[in-house]
Amino acid sequence: MSKIKVMDEALANKIAAGEVVERPLSIVKELIENSIDANSTVINIDLLDAGIKQIQVIDNGLGIEKLDLPLALKRHATSKISTDLDLFNLDTLGFRGEALASIAAVSKIKIISNIDGISTWQFDNIDQEFLEVAGNKGTRIIIDELFYNTPVRFKHLSSTNYELSLILNYVKQISLLYPGIKFSLTNNKKMLYQTDGQNNINNILNNIYGHTTAKEFKEVIIDDKDIEGSIWLCHPIITKPNKKDLIISINHRLVKNKKIEDAIIDGYKGYLHTNQYPLCYININLDPSLIDANIHPTKQQVKIGFLDKICNIITELIANQLKVLNFIPEFSLNQEIIETTSADESIKVNNVKFNQPQTTFDFTQTKVEDNEEWKLPIFRYIGSLYQTYLLFENEEGLYFVDQHAAQERINYEKFLKMFEEKQFIYQQLLIPITIHLSSEEGIIFNNLYQNLENFGLQVEQKSINVYQITAVDQFYTEAKNLSNDILQMIRLIIKNNNVKFVDLYEDVAIMMACKSSIKAHHYLDNTAINDLLRQLNKCNNPFTCPHGRPIINKITKYEIEKLFKR
Ligand code: ADP
Ligand code: MG
Repeated sequence: MSKIKVMDEALANKIAAGEVVERPLSIVKELIENSIDANSTVINIDLLDAGIKQIQVIDNGLGIEKLDLPLALKRHATSKISTDLDLFNLDTLGFRGEALASIAAVSKIKIISNIDGISTWQFDNIDQEFLEVAGNKGTRIIIDELFYNTPVRFKHLSSTNYELSLILNYVKQISLLYPGIKFSLTNNKKMLYQTDGQNNINNILNNIYGHTTAKEFKEVIIDDKDIEGSIWLCHPIITKPNKKDLIISINHRLVKNKKIEDAIIDGYKGYLHTNQYPLCYININLDPSLIDANIHPTKQQVKIGFLDKICNIITELIANQLKVLNFIPEFSLNQEIIETTSADESIKVNNVKFNQPQTTFDFTQTKVEDNEEWKLPIFRYIGSLYQTYLLFENEEGLYFVDQHAAQERINYEKFLKMFEEKQFIYQQLLIPITIHLSSEEGIIFNNLYQNLENFGLQVEQKSINVYQITAVDQFYTEAKNLSNDILQMIRLIIKNNNVKFVDLYEDVAIMMACKSSIKAHHYLDNTAINDLLRQLNKCNNPFTCPHGRPIINKITKYEIEKLFKR
């Protein structure tokens, strides 16, 4: 082997660039962060061909002194930290001093800056010469010919549309974190996105999502001695098929954090269809010493103190907030289609209108106990439709309650609680249920069957593919076809054999709830209806079934009168 040598700076920069500069977005991100760090209040991003041809970022910030221009392009050159103590008390987005150097290693970069509103100097990495030019206070950085000297990287770029969508998405998100900065983004001179810099989050949500979606956001303040911040949560009638709209800001830095994402999704538990995710913006400020942003080259991931506490607070606040929203879809008989003005078509807006929570109760028909918190509307039973929907009336309108969906919700919450609390009341079966599995299933189940106790089932293994259920929690005894249900549940467990048991509780609860619930076309007498409503009211979320479908629908009195032209 040859002797070890210290690599020259150009090569080191090119290697570092591999981490920092992956695509046009990476450059846009670093340049915007620099502009923010320079206290800019206006940041314009102008692209040609999604930044592949050119990226310009122009700000009105503090600027860079003439003699610092060459230094700014050097690796580990930063004005932001000077001692290691600073590293743990960061109040700037940048600190590693390698972004501009890395960008310069893979493109032609020109910096034009003015610190006093008088003289403007230009410097670039190719000619390395100063040039006095005309300009305003602030900094303009122009990146041309990205990856001209690293053709492999160039080849790996995706379509311009895709690169552009990444940049647009990022600019939208960062503008939400900095509502006081006026952002604009153009591509090939076409305006794509703009904010007003008026420090108003509602305005930004409007810009990002359009009015229909933006008005469904609500702010909840985090009230805690260690954690300052707020959660902007969107009503779960609006969902996305991915987690891209879980936007997390920690100390004004846009971060990705799986635990926080899960905490948000947990807060929405029971309100979302499978594979649908909420829209939510979380803005948290902590003592900077609790955060280590220096664990990831592009600083998207940070280490966070109090993370568990933060997650618990988020889940709880969201869950509590959702409880007080009114979830009864109110539909109009000549349905207007609510259009989302957002350019993003993957946003799903269910075609229903939601009103403010009801606060005054005038319940005369069903007796509400003094200490009973009544979440459902106060209404009177008037009959049943197709022996499937229960009909109720009150001064506000006509309500339809889907009896199967209601029962499913009740049973789902009961099963889930039973699995989580594990306080089973077992009943011995007079005749044990024998389960025969195929030999492939048996091999997998052989390692899993003892865990059935977590689901309130006692089991004995007779052979590798024959098992006997000897006792079940009393709740299962309501099931109509228990042996078949248990077989299906076991198959679900086998299919998900690499999933942790706790993560299966929800799926199993949904499955069992569906199986043990009253079906449509089944007559319910008054006592049964009363009982159903009482139990439904006790649920965490009495408005949607575990699959996310509505349990209650309403036509307003006004709509009915309109029908009769009154
Ligand atoms: P870092 O942001 O980690 O300090 P960069 O390579 O991104 O490193 O930038 C190097 C230095 O150049 C910064 O520390 C700052 O002093 C200066 N700089 C870069 N962009 C701007 C800007 N838009 N306005 C003012 N100063 C800037
Ligand atoms: Mg920087």
